[in-house]
Amino acid sequence: MTDTLNPLESAQLQIKKACEKLNLNPAVYEILKQPQRFIEISIPVKMDDGSLKVFKGYRSAHNHALGPSKGGVRFHQSVNVEEVKALSTWMTLKAGLLAIPYGGGKGGICVDPKKLSDRELESLSRGYVRGLYKYLGERIDIPAPDVNTNGKIMSYFIDEYTKLNGDKEDFGTFTGKPLILGGSLGRSEATGYGVVITTKYASKKIGLDLKNAEIGLQGFGNVGSFTLKYLVEEGAKVKYLSIRDENEECGRSALYSEDGFDYESLQKYRDENKTLVGYPKAKKISDEEFWQTKFDILIPAALENIITEKIAKNLDVKLIAEGANGPTTPEADIILKEKNVEVIPDVLANSGGVLVSYYEWIQNQYGNYWSKEEVQEKQEKDMLKALEGIFEIKEEFNTNIREASYMFAIKRIAEAMELRGWY
Ligand code: GLU
Repeated sequence: MTDTLNPLESAQLQIKKACEKLNLNPAVYEILKQPQRFIEISIPVKMDDGSLKVFKGYRSAHNHALGPSKGGVRFHQSVNVEEVKALSTWMTLKAGLLAIPYGGGKGGICVDPKKLSDRELESLSRGYVRGLYKYLGERIDIPAPDVNTNGKIMSYFIDEYTKLNGDKEDFGTFTGKPLILGGSLGRSEATGYGVVITTKYASKKIGLDLKNAEIGLQGFGNVGSFTLKYLVEEGAKVKYLSIRDENEECGRSALYSEDGFDYESLQKYRDENKTLVGYPKAKKISDEEFWQTKFDILIPAALENIITEKIAKNLDVKLIAEGANGPTTPEADIILKEKNVEVIPDVLANSGGVLVSYYEWIQNQYGNYWSKEEVQEKQEKDMLKALEGIFEIKEEFNTNIREASYMFAIKRIAEAMELRGWY
């Protein structure tokens, strides 16, 4: 095996191992190794300068044994077929382990949204829905935000969808919407909040004291920022933060703060400066130094394939919580296993986002909205339930958190597929 495995191959390998450990009928792997539906579209956009550009868009509905497909849409220049398929596979696992009634879905457009004007971005978003609307719906496939998409994009999506759908307002067709358009309180915070719930639980299980742990956080986007906020609320200190830095060749650098970072002050600086580079209350260190630091807990919360074999070899860390989707390559994962590093996998660590999307969908069906406290209380309860089940499997099969999470999820999906007569 090499680091050249594409994300789909990694996802397939993870599922295969879990199916074998559970001694499941080989048909389970055969069904789960690819999406049940995959759509590729071309989206023409009239650019502001009068020219026409055509963008590639994708939507993958991985498995609907437990319910309609659910998952985000990302706008990024590296979006490709295998990545979208892999991300939809992981969504199936997230829904399975949380016991929510969804299958996995994911979509994306290959575009660097920073290079588009607001008008071009709106036109692209509407074009995405025009190409796919027949396959979307609150009982069919329910998109949500992902990398570089947000409530604003969801608003264009829902508006275009409503027009094409005979003016029928099905707010539950998209989640992660702004509050005024049927969004849920606690949705923006949900992924980061969930990273902290799982990190706290796993730290306790392996005897780490969160309050005194040396923590490294990579990324300060939606996931990273709220992870930091809730870690600090738990009394923990985050002293190392890896950030995007266009001045560096590798595109990243890191910040060190002896007293630990503060969410509000980082946000304020970023809002004013559009970057965290030059943040005055910290010392700049290189990205390389960041990865060589001895951490108790490391939280990658940016994009995939960040922890490669080379990085894993040098890591000195006890617990990794995957805030991002797929940040660890399969080969790096083997090294981490050999080094006895516990990893809370993405499908568990960042599953708070889709969990609160599910609450949003429920609230849309009833037209009755919950307080942020109710949402977060329920989120914690549901995530703790999944954590308990996963740690039981971990002990029963004497395996690690990653494998136990896949096994826990696949058990439920396999049962549903068998009952439906799929194998
Ligand atoms: N994009 C998020 C994820 O990867 C959320 C998906 C959703 O809310 O449906 O889990």
